[in-house]
Amino acid sequence: MTSFVDEFVSLNADAMSLKLYSTTAQDVERALLKPTGNLSSLMALLSPAAMAYLEPMAQQAAALTRQRFGANLGLFLPLYVSNLCANECDYCGFSMSNKVKRKTLSQDELNQEMAIIKQRGFDSVLLVSGEHETKVGIDYFAAILPQVKAKFSHVAMEVQPLETVHYQRLAKLGLDAVMVYQETYRPYTYAKHHTRGKKQDFNYRLATADRIAKAGIDKIGLGVLLGLDDWRLDALFMGHHLQYLEQTYWRTRYSISLPRLRPCTGGITPKVELSDAGLVQLICAFRLFNPQVEISLSTRELASLRDNLWALGITHLSAGSSTQPGGYVHPSSQLDQFEISDDRSVEQVVSRLKQLGFNPLWKDWEMAWINQSP
Ligand code: SF4
Repeated sequence: MTSFVDEFVSLNADAMSLKLYSTTAQDVERALLKPTGNLSSLMALLSPAAMAYLEPMAQQAAALTRQRFGANLGLFLPLYVSNLCANECDYCGFSMSNKVKRKTLSQDELNQEMAIIKQRGFDSVLLVSGEHETKVGIDYFAAILPQVKAKFSHVAMEVQPLETVHYQRLAKLGLDAVMVYQETYRPYTYAKHHTRGKKQDFNYRLATADRIAKAGIDKIGLGVLLGLDDWRLDALFMGHHLQYLEQTYWRTRYSISLPRLRPCTGGITPKVELSDAGLVQLICAFRLFNPQVEISLSTRELASLRDNLWALGITHLSAGSSTQPGGYVHPSSQLDQFEISDDRSVEQVVSRLKQLGFNPLWKDWEMAWINQSP
């Protein structure tokens, strides 16, 4: 087997959906007794029948999270380096046909953005860009990475899928993690929302996590854009993907993100609404399925909701985010990828976390640790 694509084609979406929606209360109760690493249990916990068990799921998820991660919550900030994009995704403000001002940060501008992020106390950044192979491709990333790595202990990227050799090149420059979200695991829906550009290639994107792992990058982030299709089924597919990766590349760490579709320039409204209770169910189901997976929560969600979700399974969060290139130095809503909901400052979020008994972590990782012999 060379990538998850081989396993994916053997999964029958209709059969999975039928089982998901015919899950009974007894199935959920059985799943609660043995949830870890068990895909049948994950299916039961993601089912509509599990909505009646949110309270016990939340209690179990909170206890597991506390046991594995303590009261720690890691803070990171997205650093948008470009909004150029050669793809058309109908849910995104950076889509190529959207008439928005385009910008790619120069090295000077990047330095100015980093200075502000450092000033705010962050030591972990997520470099984000639209997908534009020729103008913001591997050579651009390789040129800026040493500069970014000189300032931050942990550097992750959320950019277009690359080849293994490119990931190897970036790993040598100190890249710690790559986030690559499939958006939806339903090929028909995927084709409907991705209408131009290289991102149309569903299988190439699906095999990206394998290429990242083969390049030896320490951490891989998976995600689905909740609202494009049936979120229960998409989440179940992501569970299969996560389990395949953990079993195939056991040295790699994994994280997941559960972003809900947000309004943006020229964007669509969600086809399938995910309620707050549904989001709680998702977080708890994944925590019970996989006690060590990291789960991040962005500023897409409202402050009041975020404050209630921390304890259930979240391990990483952003605060005071801008979703536009150059947005920390020159805020301008013209260039945003999507609207954010939690607009509290970093100080406000940190003070609230402390009030709630959490320990905000600015740094939890040092690459040198894995390069030292015991
Ligand atoms: S989702 Fe990504 S690839 Fe699609 S338009 Fe937005 S930035 Fe480009």
